[in-house]
Amino acid sequence: MKIRVDDITDKPRLLTFEEPYDAFPALASIHKIGQSEFLSPITVELTVVREYGHIRVKGEVSVGMRFACSRCLALFDSVLRSDFTVFYTEGNHFDSDEDEVELAEEDLVSVSFEGEEIDFSHEVAEQVIMEMPLKPLCGDDCRGLCSTCGADLNEGDCGCESASFNLKFNALKNFKVEK
Ligand SMILES: [Zn+2]
Ligand SMILES: [Zn+2]
Repeated sequence: MKIRVDDITDKPRLLTFEEPYDAFPALASIHKIGQSEFLSPITVELTVVREYGHIRVKGEVSVGMRFACSRCLALFDSVLRSDFTVFYTEGNHFDSDEDEVELAEEDLVSVSFEGEEIDFSHEVAEQVIMEMPLKPLCGDDCRGLCSTCGADLNEGDCGCESASFNLKFNALKNFKVEK
């Protein structure tokens, strides 16, 4: 996911990339842990343009992923998408520990580059990671597992429902699967 700096002009240019997840070390290690899997190549559309003192890159990244629901543990697939803008500035006017300056707006990132090429891989991988849900849900209305018997409540009531409201309420509050 590279472009020669000389090929970037003040006329916006659209670039499309498609690369397997294991071309990105950070994504490969997420996949290896196994809680989330990549099902498709990472697809990226970038519009690059030179303006003022920097290069502006507006991008959209998408990838098919498989997650385990944090409530019912079922596996489900979904397409993860993220829109982002990165400003690349030539030279290293930043201290090494300030290479990346996050600006006020969340998905606006400023990065410095050196040399004749810009490699977008690092920022693209970072966008994917930021977009990954911390607590994936198979659906907003997922009912989770019964805290008493462990049954998947999405498949119907297990019978423990007849317990008092208090019990049910506490079970939801301190969700854990009893052994
Ligand atoms: Zn679920
Ligand atoms: Zn139950």
